[in-house]
Amino acid sequence: MSDATTVVEFDAVSKTYPGGVAAVRNVSLRIGRGELVAIVGPSGSGKSSMLNLMGSLDRPSSGRVLVDGHDVASLSDREVSALRATRIGFVFQQFHLAVGVPVLDSVADGLLYAGLPMRRRRAKASAALERVGLSHRVHHLPHQLSGGERQRVAVARAVVGEPPVLLADEPTGNLDSASGAAVLTLLRELNAAGTTVVVITHDREIAAGLPRRIEMRDGRLVADTARSTTIGAPR
Ligand code: ADP
Ligand code: MG
Repeated sequence: MSDATTVVEFDAVSKTYPGGVAAVRNVSLRIGRGELVAIVGPSGSGKSSMLNLMGSLDRPSSGRVLVDGHDVASLSDREVSALRATRIGFVFQQFHLAVGVPVLDSVADGLLYAGLPMRRRRAKASAALERVGLSHRVHHLPHQLSGGERQRVAVARAVVGEPPVLLADEPTGNLDSASGAAVLTLLRELNAAGTTVVVITHDREIAAGLPRRIEMRDGRLVADTARSTTIGAPR
């Protein structure tokens, strides 16, 4: 059952890509409001596919995905876009910052959907950049920033609209360990301020420090620290 405290619910979800790759197999889970969850597992185990389903970037082949109580399959494309734009922030391993666009505008672009005038978007972008510790870099271009700074800009853009859910796919994957740790600290701060955060990571150390870990193997959920049992993983 879904309720107001559940932000993401998977009910026997499978995802098979055209060509027959079963990337996600019969996964059921619930993520509650305010959680900070790590998704771990080897490369190819279905982590990104899971996150894309959670973020309504993709639809399941079977089973039910509820985001914020909405069954993604029952929404029109327009409604899914609206859900995504207003309820979910995304951060990826590649920072996806437009070349030649100043940091402030990149972040303000995260609000295009909100229909605010440019001045208001810039004001909110400025506040988001302050949140990630980059007030002194607002007029920089992406190529003038370090990798860690670029990722913090990407986080600012993801949260500028104050989405209740932030999904991050290997956000520290391209960073050295110090910059990665800074990004993780930032995700923790956002979580402490109320955002539900789901983060995919390869980094065992990072994962071990997070309150809940979901482990994937060959498309199956094989362990979830929110459940006391470990589901028998094929060896
Ligand atoms: P992870 O993020 O854990 O590395 P993915 O979810 O990206 O795993 O991929 C799981 C499996 O699905 C892999 O075998 C991958 O090759 C396959 N896959 C991922 N995306 C697609 C796609 N768009 N089309 C076909 N196969 C895909
Ligand atoms: Mg991946």
